[in-house]
Amino acid sequence: MSRNTTPTAAATEIAPGLIRIDTGYLRPAHTACYLVIDQGRAALVDTGVVHSVAVILEALAASGLDRSAVDWVIPTHVHLDHAGGAGPLMQALPAARLGVHPSGVDHLVDPGRLEAGVRALYGDAFFDREYAPLVPVDPTRIVALEDGAMVATGARQLQVIHTPGHAWHHLSLLDADRSVFIAGDAFGAGYPGYAEGAAPFLVPVVPPPQFDPDAYRQTLERIRDIDPRYVAPAHFPLIEAPRAAADRLQTLLDAAVDWTLECDSLDDLQRRLVSGWAEALPAGADRAAFERDFGLDLWLTVEGLWHWRRKKARRASG
Ligand SMILES: [Zn+2]
Repeated sequence: MSRNTTPTAAATEIAPGLIRIDTGYLRPAHTACYLVIDQGRAALVDTGVVHSVAVILEALAASGLDRSAVDWVIPTHVHLDHAGGAGPLMQALPAARLGVHPSGVDHLVDPGRLEAGVRALYGDAFFDREYAPLVPVDPTRIVALEDGAMVATGARQLQVIHTPGHAWHHLSLLDADRSVFIAGDAFGAGYPGYAEGAAPFLVPVVPPPQFDPDAYRQTLERIRDIDPRYVAPAHFPLIEAPRAAADRLQTLLDAAVDWTLECDSLDDLQRRLVSGWAEALPAGADRAAFERDFGLDLWLTVEGLWHWRRKKARRASG
């Protein structure tokens, strides 16, 4: 596959007509969105945060596209590193429809409850710095995307695949012609700089409140069955041997679930997860740098795992 860099530093063509845009959220090479281009028309998968909108519009212009050439904006789920830019992007892109999982529609029309939940998890200072303001989307421009639906831009067809696990309301897009699966967060998070040869270092980042390990496992199996040549995750490098990567991801997830059930407290789980994942790092990797750089993802995953455990215990006792 070609890896031509287009005139903005943030945009990279990873396949013909498929451009990865580094949204700049938190740091470079952390969160991407994807621009699918065909015959002068385009679809955008994921939006980054509100601060990513300028970067995306710049990448669009650098690709020679007018703002009215964008047919679709499709957040893979409503977490704010994927959908936080949806409101202002829809204002900037006059012809676009917003495609979203049926269970995500209400959160984009009225983001109040989503904002309250994210503020409770991250705190107001983080929310105000990274995510504010959330802008509602006009419901008449939203299309609920069912599993199996086809989304067209130019002559290109993208198939909607529901991919629960990271979140219940998660979807991915399959570009069957190019055998690329645009995964969102359904296929873990990849950390550039920690790869072992051609094998990416991928971990299952699973925030509260909808993480479901059984659904996550079934989604990984479904992606294995689809057997795309490439997986393009939102976080971060293109994955070129998806089946092997799915196996490693499943192993790390199984271990994390076991630790969650064994640990006595959230702090205990935090220690176990950090040391367990660090053990999976390639030989010679800088463990202290890993813990520092990925502290937020590690913390988020501990919260997601612990939340899942408490929900499970409540169900068992109720
Ligand atoms: Zn994410």
